Amino acid sequence: MSSLAYIAPWVLGSVGVGLVIGFFMGRGRVSTPRDVELARRERQAALKALLELLRAAERLSTDVESHNTEIQESAEQVGSLQATGEMESVKQALLGHMTSLMTSNRQMQDDLTCTQYRLEEQAQEIDHARHEARTDAMTNVANRKAFDEKLHLLLDTWKRQRETFVLILIDLDQFKRINDSHGHQAGDRILKKVGAWLKKSVREGDLVGRYGGDEFAVLLPRTTLQVGFNLAETLRTGVADRASRVALRRGEVSVSLSIGVAVPCIGDTVETILARADEALYRSKHLGRNQVNCQLPQQDQTESEEPVLAGDPC
Ligand code: GH3
Ligand code: MG
Repeated sequence: MSSLAYIAPWVLGSVGVGLVIGFFMGRGRVSTPRDVELARRERQAALKALLELLRAAERLSTDVESHNTEIQESAEQVGSLQATGEMESVKQALLGHMTSLMTSNRQMQDDLTCTQYRLEEQAQEIDHARHEARTDAMTNVANRKAFDEKLHLLLDTWKRQRETFVLILIDLDQFKRINDSHGHQAGDRILKKVGAWLKKSVREGDLVGRYGGDEFAVLLPRTTLQVGFNLAETLRTGVADRASRVALRRGEVSVSLSIGVAVPCIGDTVETILARADEALYRSKHLGRNQVNCQLPQQDQTESEEPVLAGDPC
């Protein structure tokens, strides 16, 4: 059988997996927790298939190599046989067949190596595209799509298992003024610095996202309101004290943050929890900026035994 016949399934398989993943990554914004979970599982399944193809190609390559070694050893034995007359021509014909078998095996191995490279490249491209599709290009934090997905997932987990989380909305204070007096580029640099500072200040597994314009959002899985509120205070004071003093051509500029914090409650949707965080943020602006506020759910919506609201910081 021609070596290409062996290779074709791997090449087609890898292209197929790439297309499937590309399709799932390119799908529009998912709207329900079920869609999010489904899209996540589909992506995982496609990536798993790609990795299995890679492993199978590696195994096949090893098999071909040991097959070739066996033929080589047999050829050496045949070559050392004493033969005369008719047997000599049989021996030469046999050696000719073995040589051409080894040549096609080597060709197959080269093709397999090529396919492995292509599969690895494809896996890297998928990884890179996945990262790019979920990252805000300017600030390098998660983009709105990635944030929305994570919020859906956390809310879904809260509904099924009552595993709480904290949502933090952050808006830079008087950012228009900074843009106006120092220029848009300086404004961009400040947004980048704030994004980097926020990312540096949270744990692995937390998500920092750009919610839009000069607004960031942070999601803290498995975190109580008290802990989330304290972290929000740390972020605010950190920016006010350190990261805010951004050296600009026309002197330093101070940056402060207004922050709103919310935790999930019974009956919440993505919209209602976001609205509560937004109300808390609005309160921070209204009360003079550079502060943290949180918005508790209505009393009748909370579960009395919920530890989430213990030590209410609001
Ligand atoms: P407030 O304290 O009430 O938030 O005042 P503000 O001036 O920050 O008002 P607001 O948050 O409504 O304005 C956000 C401004 O951020 C408006 C827009 O010019 C600016 N902005 C949005 N995106 C970018 C960006 O990517 N780069 C820069 N430099 N500025 C941006
Ligand atoms: Mg602002």
